[in-house]
Amino acid sequence: MTLDLVSFTTIAGVPATPVPRKIGRAFLATLETALEQLWKLCPWGPARRIIHGGAYVQRPDPNMVDRHAQARAIDVMHFEWDVVEVGPAMVLLSPTDLRRYLAVTAVLELGIGCTLNYWQPDAKHKNHWHLDDHRSPGWSPGWMPQIRHLQASLIEFWDHQDIKIDGVYGPRTRAAAEASFGDLADPTVWRDALLEISRRGFAPDFSAGEDTLKIEPGDGSGSVRA
Ligand SMILES: [Zn+2]
Repeated sequence: MTLDLVSFTTIAGVPATPVPRKIGRAFLATLETALEQLWKLCPWGPARRIIHGGAYVQRPDPNMVDRHAQARAIDVMHFEWDVVEVGPAMVLLSPTDLRRYLAVTAVLELGIGCTLNYWQPDAKHKNHWHLDDHRSPGWSPGWMPQIRHLQASLIEFWDHQDIKIDGVYGPRTRAAAEASFGDLADPTVWRDALLEISRRGFAPDFSAGEDTLKIEPGDGSGSVRA
């Protein structure tokens, strides 16, 4: 397969660093649409800078699962606006930083099918979002990265303290999700759920109950609170 590569120095009108780097043309279009949506939905408009950790990587892909080698992935460390920075490395700084991270992740999920977030159990994503389009955007109860973000959001924004961030759409998570949103299998409900997560996360003074970090610093399997 020949890769249709393009060089980029900006993404969705925003300077990216480091540059120039290469990326697949089709994935760049998907990424730009998703980020234009983010500039619209967040309260700060277009970011000032996107700090990334690599897109296309020229290397063997013997198992055909390396999305960077397939030029359909990027690692985003953080987004820099004039007044704030949002990224996984900021998740544990404060409840506000955590909520902004959940909000940005929700918007990314709207447009990009594979959005690997802070709660990946492999602990590799504590400092970047991995974004790729090997799956289409949309709800799937078996897609664990999406469930982890949903669980973290239900804990933080709806105060469902009985849920664990384990990526499993079990009875407790399902009950909490249905009580808060309805049936996520309905694409409109799913979209509205992500929009509501982003609204709450971007609200400057949102707090569900006591304003302390409700998210544990580890992989979600323990019970330690930050
Ligand atoms: Zn990656």
